[in-house]
Amino acid sequence: MLSYQHAYHAGNFADVHKHLTLHAVIDHLLRKKSPITYIDTHAGRGLYPLDAAETTRLQEYREGVAPLWSARETREGGTLLVEWLTALAAAQPDPRRLTHYPGSPWWMGQRLRAQDQQWLFELHPGEHEHLSQQPFPAAVQRIHGDGLKGLRERLPVRTPRLCVLIDPSYERKEEYLEVAETVLAAMRKARHAVVLVWYPLLPAGRHRELLESLRDGGLRKVWYGEFSRRTPAQEERGMYGSGMLVVNPPWGLDERLAEAMAPVVARLGSPGSYRSGWWVEE
Ligand code: SAM
Repeated sequence: MLSYQHAYHAGNFADVHKHLTLHAVIDHLLRKKSPITYIDTHAGRGLYPLDAAETTRLQEYREGVAPLWSARETREGGTLLVEWLTALAAAQPDPRRLTHYPGSPWWMGQRLRAQDQQWLFELHPGEHEHLSQQPFPAAVQRIHGDGLKGLRERLPVRTPRLCVLIDPSYERKEEYLEVAETVLAAMRKARHAVVLVWYPLLPAGRHRELLESLRDGGLRKVWYGEFSRRTPAQEERGMYGSGMLVVNPPWGLDERLAEAMAPVVARLGSPGSYRSGWWVEE
């Protein structure tokens, strides 16, 4: 059963961390002309008006993207954060006001070049319908179906380079291992792919199953970044942090993100923290 809808959480601290990491990876990949296929296995709606009924219910963006909006003017966080906020401004009908939050398909969709491909999977019929209404370039394929299965079926791709984002809602605890199996299977077919996986930091610590399965499966060059908003003890049930792992991370990713995340941690308030490093080295 699919009950999760991302509109309730759009623009929260986890989205900021996830999309900042995604933006940094895409930015690096687009420096070369050679074509890329970008596959988003759990695409969501693509764009979230912050005044939508679902989003105003929890208003999580108030403790996520909203406190960062003005960092564009003060130019905190180095080039990456300023570029990310500038891109965010371009997603607004009025670039002076933060009224919309773009989802993962947008960060590549708005930069897609003639030589690139983008495939977006979304299983929820309502979310897929919203996604279908977004004005993405004609080359963007929106597929109503299971993203993990779809990814396996479509590999290898025709372009020389591949970037994958796997961003499930982890409504079922089995999803951690399903994601790990899919990443291992995908890497066997596309050794050089850059694969990003988002995972929640929850007191139950199930993300460790995902990370350990990747290491035990023999995967190399696995980098991670974790943004904790609270300590597990303070939040006994809910998500206390956001994790991103990147297989085959672009050169310099760790440093660029560490610089960008410093003001994010500071602006989102105590007791936040960010740490990153190799989970499995080369
Ligand atoms: N990636 C989006 C973003 O960053 O803007 C948010 C995605 S949200 C966390 C997870 C989405 O995956 C939901 O829209 C949900 O309906 C969808 N979903 C759940 N299971 C799926 C599956 N097996 N295949 C594709 N989509 C799925």
